[in-house]
Amino acid sequence: MKIYNTLTRRKEEFVPIEEGKVRMYVCGPTVYNYIHIGNARPMIVFDTARRYMEYKGYKVNYVSNFTDVDDKIIKKANEEGVTSEEISNRYIEECKKDMDGMNIKPATYNPLATKEIDGMLDMIKVLIEKGYAYEKNGTVYYRTAKFKDYGKLSKKNMDELQAGHRSILVTGDDEKEDPMDFVLWKPKKEGEPFWPSDYSDGRPGWHIECSVMAKKYLGDEIDIHAGGEDLIFPHHENEIAQSEAANGVQFSKYWMHNAFLNIDNHKMSKSLGNFKTVREISEKYDLQVLRFFMLSAHYRSPLNFSADLMESSKAGLARIITAVDNLNHLLENAKEDEFKAGEDADFAKAYVAKFEEAMDDDFNTADAISAVFELVKYVNSNANENSSKAFLNAAKEEITKLCDILGIIVTKEAEILDEEIDNLIKERQQARKDKNFARADEIRDLLADKGIILEDTREGVKWHRK
Ligand code: AMP
Ligand code: ZN
Repeated sequence: MKIYNTLTRRKEEFVPIEEGKVRMYVCGPTVYNYIHIGNARPMIVFDTARRYMEYKGYKVNYVSNFTDVDDKIIKKANEEGVTSEEISNRYIEECKKDMDGMNIKPATYNPLATKEIDGMLDMIKVLIEKGYAYEKNGTVYYRTAKFKDYGKLSKKNMDELQAGHRSILVTGDDEKEDPMDFVLWKPKKEGEPFWPSDYSDGRPGWHIECSVMAKKYLGDEIDIHAGGEDLIFPHHENEIAQSEAANGVQFSKYWMHNAFLNIDNHKMSKSLGNFKTVREISEKYDLQVLRFFMLSAHYRSPLNFSADLMESSKAGLARIITAVDNLNHLLENAKEDEFKAGEDADFAKAYVAKFEEAMDDDFNTADAISAVFELVKYVNSNANENSSKAFLNAAKEEITKLCDILGIIVTKEAEILDEEIDNLIKERQQARKDKNFARADEIRDLLADKGIILEDTREGVKWHRK
């Protein structure tokens, strides 16, 4: 499996630090509003990378934070006359609903910046002790000149960067030693949330949050650090400077960055006001369509949002769902169990190989989707009333399996078959007899999710669709 590493600007064979395991950190959103579909791009593409690595047998420890202390959150809280915590909690909940709708697997951990302040103060202390940070009037700055590798991720030329900042230096407003230095800790202003520290009552800078949360939940050395390409500089560059100076080891082996989701060829962003929220899209489309749309391009290519592309994603997804639906109908009446003469038991092999080849090549989901379409085309032209159950089941399983790796749900929820329901109910009865109540409850919940209501009657369990 090859991954394009921003650090080396090359595709590299993926070799994890610890065999069979992946430690992955993805920078999460700042929670002061509903997320927009630009924010959804990294969520979807890195969730898909995770799913593929899990399919390949890796155990993935996937950590993604919520930035819940920030100027924008404070501003919104002041506008509404509520606490910052109320704003961040509200939008974390809303974000989780959107993520669920996009079928994004819950992270192993979703740390909150405000709950990790102690760790941040510990790292700041170490940085000061090692000479990588200094305090001035309650503010702590990172001393970039001391970190020899500063600029290694963004490949920025330090002289150019310094020149860009010279004007600040000239005004003399800045108390930094060097215009490139950045804030690790800053004193509170009136009405802002704060924490006590040796330097001032204040709050952390944004970059230190991710360095500390990655360290706490994944360790000093991680395999993959990911986010949108706007985070390369300064956010990720600064994370490297902090973590590597404090921990004394390489922070992340691979750095992955998604390209922008654009609208009219401009980056979609809150500040430009040209965004669409995931919530708005969900009013018009099943969010599976949004997911399918995002995966129809390679994650490192810019993607332009348009109604036309959404419509073609909707049609593409419908083609797959219809094929699976058709297989379900054929299965209801199929007579023969085993593969028949003329049916190729290994029909899916070539398509699966093509899918894997695409995904092994830096998660090329666009080509992986093409492989799924080819499989669907084969199935559509070979499955019919005379097909065996073995063939129909295999066809359904293979399509579902590949789509599941992409996080695309292809079974219509309401389309759970009566037979499947009856079997699950039988299994539940048995589980209850065996006093395996956990399994019994799990089955009841699973059916409830599909809109099936169970009723215990004197004649036994009856069910109906919601
Ligand atoms: P933010 O809440 O702005 O910190 O962004 C959260 C994540 O969304 C980061 O990984 C950003 O790089 C990413 N992001 C924001 N806008 C876009 C966009 N238009 N296209 C792709 N990724 C984006
Ligand atoms: Zn981050």
